[in-house]
Amino acid sequence: MGHASSDSGWEGHVPQTGGKCPTSLKRVLSETWEAWRAWIVDQERLLREDGFPDARRLAARLRRTLGLRASAPPGDVVTAVCEAFHFNRSVDHNEAPGAGAVSVRVDSGLYDKQASLRVAIGAGPMVRRHSVWAHELGHVFLAVLLESALEIGVLTRDQVDALEEERFSWDFSLGLCCPDKVVASWNRGYVQALLSADERRLVDVIESPALRAFTYYHLRALACAHRISMRATLVALDRHPLLAQVACGIGVFRVARNRHTGLDRGLRMWQSARPPWGYVVTNRRVRRQGFRAAHEVYAKAEPGGIAVYRERLSVRRRTMGGPTKWTDYELTVDCAYTAVDVRDESRFLLAIWHWPNPEA
Ligand SMILES: [Zn+2]
Repeated sequence: MGHASSDSGWEGHVPQTGGKCPTSLKRVLSETWEAWRAWIVDQERLLREDGFPDARRLAARLRRTLGLRASAPPGDVVTAVCEAFHFNRSVDHNEAPGAGAVSVRVDSGLYDKQASLRVAIGAGPMVRRHSVWAHELGHVFLAVLLESALEIGVLTRDQVDALEEERFSWDFSLGLCCPDKVVASWNRGYVQALLSADERRLVDVIESPALRAFTYYHLRALACAHRISMRATLVALDRHPLLAQVACGIGVFRVARNRHTGLDRGLRMWQSARPPWGYVVTNRRVRRQGFRAAHEVYAKAEPGGIAVYRERLSVRRRTMGGPTKWTDYELTVDCAYTAVDVRDESRFLLAIWHWPNPEA
């Protein structure tokens, strides 16, 4: 174990977009660690039909390989994966909360080589740290899987984009911290039962009866019950049968630039959970989407409160029968806004709107 970096070694952050690193990350890992060598065999089974890796399948396989039960708390799962695959974890106070980075360093000595993987994330509550750590682990596994997919030619570089990688890593984080089997059991009666007596009283006074079936309090209770972050909970709810049962759509807004141009800062939809029958076109300013009260609530609301407005949203819906097509329509519905201030981070605005099945 010398200290000089080897010429053939590799040092730096795990790259996004198709594993463009000077030396193969896969090779470095499998040369230096038995656990990676064993895992890298036969990973082609983790690719989807379109060639892109399947995050939930990967997470399920890791849980199985490590003998983790469905009820294992996320902290234990993340620790088990870090130990098995030699990830060092640290909290870096220069990183923003909710952000993280993975670096790989290879030292080579006279007789052997040693690599180290470090996952550094920003400070934040423990539950959130586990989600972010799991997310960063996702980036490493993804980089290795993408190398394989590119090597065997089921995927080309132009099919891999940074947004898809982010989606993968959040999906992986969720799959690791809360298995599919558990997520699938969420339904209307179950989430009602999660509320405390105080929360139930707050829900009962919401002016719009349609909005009482699923609120900010339900979302928070779900996250707490499964010890996952609110963000991971929203990932799980996307197209979840629960959203069909409670007939609602969910959006989270924050001040951001246009994702494609990097310009035009404004309040934008940053994450959403959609019922099976429709969606709001993202990456637009909220006003264009029809969330007219959003700016005012964002600027003035007390965090945690619920303010209901009637909105006319511009959405797309799925046409039933025949091949899936999406058509534009206007949805006039009640929408509940809640401002959420995340410690050391910016304010978010959660919107939950009634969204009945247009075909029902
Ligand atoms: Zn990421």
